[in-house]
Amino acid sequence: MKEITHTNLQFLADTEMRQGGGTCNNVDVQWMETSFKYAEDALINKEVPVGCIIVFENDIIATGRNEVNETKNATRHAEVVAIDKVLNWCEGNGKKSADVFRGSVLYVTVEPCIMCTGALRCVRLGKVVYGCGNDRFGGCGSVMDIHTDDLPNLGPQFECIGGLMAGRAVNILKEFYKGENINAPECKRKVKDGCEIQSECSGNSNSDKSK
Ligand SMILES: [Zn+2]
Repeated sequence: MKEITHTNLQFLADTEMRQGGGTCNNVDVQWMETSFKYAEDALINKEVPVGCIIVFENDIIATGRNEVNETKNATRHAEVVAIDKVLNWCEGNGKKSADVFRGSVLYVTVEPCIMCTGALRCVRLGKVVYGCGNDRFGGCGSVMDIHTDDLPNLGPQFECIGGLMAGRAVNILKEFYKGENINAPECKRKVKDGCEIQSECSGNSNSDKSK
């Protein structure tokens, strides 16, 4: 496990916290370090490198990384994978999922997209801490504010803090897109400072027209 270095913390201090006005501490940094392990696993498996964990009462009860190409299912984002695992964990431990989600924090390397933010609100998640923003699809402030919009039927609003280790999240995305991913769609693969990703369309892989 990588140690928490001064560099990490300096980066954290220099990073704009985009939402909620909250701050992160060393524990948050450690949890986010763990999420990066899953993003790196996604990278190795030629998936858009986004990783996450869900922490409840100081324990990791679920992990996730993108499985879109592997499953040929465009909804299998890291967060959705982790939500499913929490539901299984609740069933196995005799807990009510709404209570567990409400007391949980999701650490994810990239801002959840609009679909995932809606799903996180539906399950009543308590809080999100993310790395870099998602300027194309972000549902926690970059494109839409699904986490705080007045949508009472969707579920309760949740707190969201962005920008934790954002540079590292952008770098791993850049590594993915420069690697000529054969599974990536033909849409633009540009990653810029706000980190632009194509997680939504990554499922349209191996189309017949590619010759
Ligand atoms: Zn998503």
